[in-house]
Amino acid sequence: MSDKEFFPKRALSIHAHPDDQEFTVAGTLARWVQAGCEVVSIIVTSGEAGSNDPSRDAGAKPDLARLREAEQSSANATLGIRDTVFLHYPDGELEPTMNLRRDLTRLIRQHKPEAVVIGDPQGVFYGNGYINHPDHRAAAQAALYAVFPSSETRLIFTDLLREGVEPHKVKRLYVHGSEKSDTWIDITSMIGVKISALKKHVSQLGDWDPEIMIRKWAAEEGKDHGLEYAEAYKVMLLSEEKDSSE
Ligand SMILES: [Zn+2]
Repeated sequence: MSDKEFFPKRALSIHAHPDDQEFTVAGTLARWVQAGCEVVSIIVTSGEAGSNDPSRDAGAKPDLARLREAEQSSANATLGIRDTVFLHYPDGELEPTMNLRRDLTRLIRQHKPEAVVIGDPQGVFYGNGYINHPDHRAAAQAALYAVFPSSETRLIFTDLLREGVEPHKVKRLYVHGSEKSDTWIDITSMIGVKISALKKHVSQLGDWDPEIMIRKWAAEEGKDHGLEYAEAYKVMLLSEEKDSSE
């Protein structure tokens, strides 16, 4: 499926931790922002478990959460994203609960995005070296089912109606990290911006420079599709309506 021409006017990017978005979909978001899209970045946990420093214990978590939220806000500023929402669910212990689905449903209904960008709720094993973090799957699953059916179905989460939050139908769902990708977004013009945004997550990178790896991943995703650098998605087309930007 060619997707080069679709630029949503509004999009939500939903991820478990600070830095997930920058490792995966940031090039796409930067392209959309450049085309005039308003992107809202929703971070479900604040990444307060993201340290193996032996001098740290539970008391370090609030400071680490604040630091990582600041890093995420800085990364989003680099991408041109002005709106960041932290939901403060517990890092490392996330589950796809009804409360999380309701919170994400509320945000989708409030911001009315045409497109929502998530990770793959089915991704467990990546190659032979990486077990997907369960928080990633939990956030993706909750977001998936917030998009459909909860955000568009009036009588699901009727407490949201009492809050004055009306249903909204998302047109496209972009799932990153799928083994069944069908859409490759050209991020060649944004690879530098993606790397710069990722580098804002200093607490996670330490002295490691991620540039070579990010370029390698993006080159691999683009190489069979005539693109120097790409991000790959499975895209669900959820609306029969004509996309407003086409
Ligand atoms: Zn993560």
